[in-house]
Amino acid sequence: MSAPAQQVFRFAPSPNGLLHLGHALSALLNFRLARAAQGRFLLRIEDIDPVRSRPEFVRAIEDDLTWLGLVWEKPVRHQSHHMADYARALDALALRGLLYPCFCTRGDLARAVAGRPGWPHDPDGAPLYPGTCRDMPQAARALLHAIGAPFAQRLDLAKALAALPLDMGWRETCADGSARSERANPALWGDAILARKDVPASYHLCVVVDDALQGVSDVVRGADLAASTHLHRLLQAVLSLPVPRYHHHSLIIDEAGAKLAKSRLSQPLRQWRAQGATPDDIARQVGL
Ligand code: GLU
Repeated sequence: MSAPAQQVFRFAPSPNGLLHLGHALSALLNFRLARAAQGRFLLRIEDIDPVRSRPEFVRAIEDDLTWLGLVWEKPVRHQSHHMADYARALDALALRGLLYPCFCTRGDLARAVAGRPGWPHDPDGAPLYPGTCRDMPQAARALLHAIGAPFAQRLDLAKALAALPLDMGWRETCADGSARSERANPALWGDAILARKDVPASYHLCVVVDDALQGVSDVVRGADLAASTHLHRLLQAVLSLPVPRYHHHSLIIDEAGAKLAKSRLSQPLRQWRAQGATPDDIARQVGL
């Protein structure tokens, strides 16, 4: 019998701001779980957004994590250095006819669903795509390409679902350590954008490709990303990628019940640090 594979955990921040207590919880949890399993702990910098990502935030993230006592493997994967990997995944989807170009602006989308009360929204709050560009005649598409109109690439959800088994799911580890099966419902996201107009990739695509390329066995992240897993599971299926185990940990909520990012508890870790907090204080503060 072969030895069980080593478990691989990752903390994958986007360097668009300073880390706060919510990030500390995710990072510490991943690190401790990796240690307990004698597994590996990776840091991944999710910096595909060229406007919001900044090198000084990458440095601040590494500095804060080091202060917290975390150690991670080198080299660190920066998504912006691996655009070819995401292009390959998009090519594979395009080859199967699962992508289409979408020329719509946010305004077009808002107009298309205006006056349609009850129109469904995705878990991020955007209206589900009404399909305007999906059935565009080939000649119209060619014309828009010819004049250089910017376009995103969307997943043709109906086609993808038609090609997949009905009972896709994943194993979700609960806070008490027990596990349950979750059934994927990618329809929550409609025809999701997999390549943006400004960047030829998207969060959902990159995270799924990277987790597979980096051999991540356990995705541990905040409950605010739990809904994304429904789409991630579908992408794993269409790209024939392995399915990690998932644990979506609870979020740090302030007294008013606001998600941390919007409350005063969201002060950056370095501010706690400047006020004299120790790494142990932070661990206690996040309930570890
Ligand atoms: N980069 C994402 C964030 O900072 C997290 C991605 C993930 O853990 O899947 O919210």
